[in-house]
Amino acid sequence: MGTYEVTWNLDSIFQGGSESVELKDYVIKTERLMDDLEASIRQFTPPKNTDQTEDLRKIVEVMQVVTKQLSEFGAFVSCLSAQNVHDKKASMWQSKRSEMGARLGNALTEMDQVFVQVDDDVWKSLINQAPFKEISFVLNERRSLAKDKLEVGKESLINDLGVDGYHAWGQMYDALVAKLSIELNGEKLSVGQASNQLDHPDRSVRKEAFDKLQETWGEASDLFTETLNHLSGFRLQTYKHRRWENVLKEPLDYNRMSEKTLDAMWETITEYKKHYVPYLKKKAERLGLEQLSFYDVEAPLGEADQKMSFQEGAEFIIQQFRKFSPKMADFAEMAFEKRWIEAEDRPGKQPGGFCTSFPDSGETRIFMTYSGSPSSVATLAHELGHAYHQHVMNELPELNQGYAMNVAETASTFAEMIVADAAVKEAVTEAERLVLLEDKVQRSVAFFMNIHARFLFETRFYDERKQGVVSTERLNELMTEAQQEAYVQTLDEYDPTFWASKLHFHITDVPFYNFPYTFGYLFSMGIYAKALEVGPAFEDRYISLLQDTGKMTVEELAKKHLDVDLEKKDFWVHALELCLSDLESFMDLV
Ligand SMILES: [Zn+2]
Repeated sequence: MGTYEVTWNLDSIFQGGSESVELKDYVIKTERLMDDLEASIRQFTPPKNTDQTEDLRKIVEVMQVVTKQLSEFGAFVSCLSAQNVHDKKASMWQSKRSEMGARLGNALTEMDQVFVQVDDDVWKSLINQAPFKEISFVLNERRSLAKDKLEVGKESLINDLGVDGYHAWGQMYDALVAKLSIELNGEKLSVGQASNQLDHPDRSVRKEAFDKLQETWGEASDLFTETLNHLSGFRLQTYKHRRWENVLKEPLDYNRMSEKTLDAMWETITEYKKHYVPYLKKKAERLGLEQLSFYDVEAPLGEADQKMSFQEGAEFIIQQFRKFSPKMADFAEMAFEKRWIEAEDRPGKQPGGFCTSFPDSGETRIFMTYSGSPSSVATLAHELGHAYHQHVMNELPELNQGYAMNVAETASTFAEMIVADAAVKEAVTEAERLVLLEDKVQRSVAFFMNIHARFLFETRFYDERKQGVVSTERLNELMTEAQQEAYVQTLDEYDPTFWASKLHFHITDVPFYNFPYTFGYLFSMGIYAKALEVGPAFEDRYISLLQDTGKMTVEELAKKHLDVDLEKKDFWVHALELCLSDLESFMDLV
């Protein structure tokens, strides 16, 4: 193992940062290809038999190249903006990227309509031929989703009206939130900054932040009643015209999962929740309280003060990965050696962390600010998990590399779990172990309770919204009821305005931005359980599972690689049992 640098190298992708000439040429080349794609779609005449597939072949081929190059360009630009928020040239490239993205989006919608124009029988036989066979899942999916929609003219009318009548409500939400501010200890804070105080070790700080936040959101909530009712109203009207009765159709399609799977997951979680009640009671006791409030759930029980340098963190991760998968460890080692990671703690960087992939050059980059705490080691492992997922998909056709939100976190959670478990095992003091263990239990509580409350609220809200506008009072009531149920009535105070403060209810791109999180968490738990059971032989099975995430439903994925039926409870029971073992260790320790 060499010495690893804490900053990344972007020059191997395009030399010269935001002023790069290579980048400029690449973008021009991509735009020309996009012209080609649009022209081919415009000139398309549906084939009458499987001998006339030349046009379609060309469209699919060019589309994949354009998509790949646009991802490469987009990834580079996000790296530029992240490493230096003051890079003006980078933000100019950002706008260029969005513009080209919108253009590709329109071309793809038209392409899907091209697929619909192909006669069913012709489609069925051509999809079984090369080069379509390999990517048939995605092509079939695109075609059938397009079929479920209205005719082209109506859909494009909806799209156009949606800019101001739908997405604008989401933007209005953001604009309103940006105007909110809170006075805390004589300081004027944004709602985001004030929310950061909710896991403060001092209860009086948490309580004050919570009360002030309730007051602020409460006063503004009538405005958010408008934004939420109108954006959901637009969505429901669109569904009505498309004759979609189930509001879950769109998010389930998007996540390639069935409603039976979703039900099996929530039902099992509901049964297992009771095991977390003693934990919440114990936590109240440790904090010296009768009962926890909403703002106590994430309060820390102590601090893990053991720090690791970047080098130590890197070596620890590689070493732990190796126990599960030498290939994954080799990959991580390569990422450190080739400087694919930007982890320096310096001003002018974007907050947060991400992993982004460059499908054209087959590289990835990880962005974060490394502090040396156990949680930043975990973040580094998490992002390396994402990078590995991309790495094993590199050789696949571009169309088979796209995976949905619910499986996107599989490899990252898996990698994080390996490292978190090892950290617990190697903790020096009992206090340290307690903090690390609680961190794991907390995650379960968030996925099984907090996210569940969001799902319960959103489902019930949409039901009532079908009958008409839902009032502020009723929204507060629905939210409180959902939280009481999700937290098994264990808290003495809930967060009634959570529907207003949580951005996710107001995102217009994807509805139900909640259950995929819980799915992803438990799905990777299930895989982790399998890895522990099978041992080193699991490595290749794991890789082929990851490689299939972009070309089948989650049910098919689980059946093929884990031999389990996600629509039945067994799988979920298994995954939950694994979560419970952390809970038991924690309870033993306290
Ligand atoms: Zn992630």
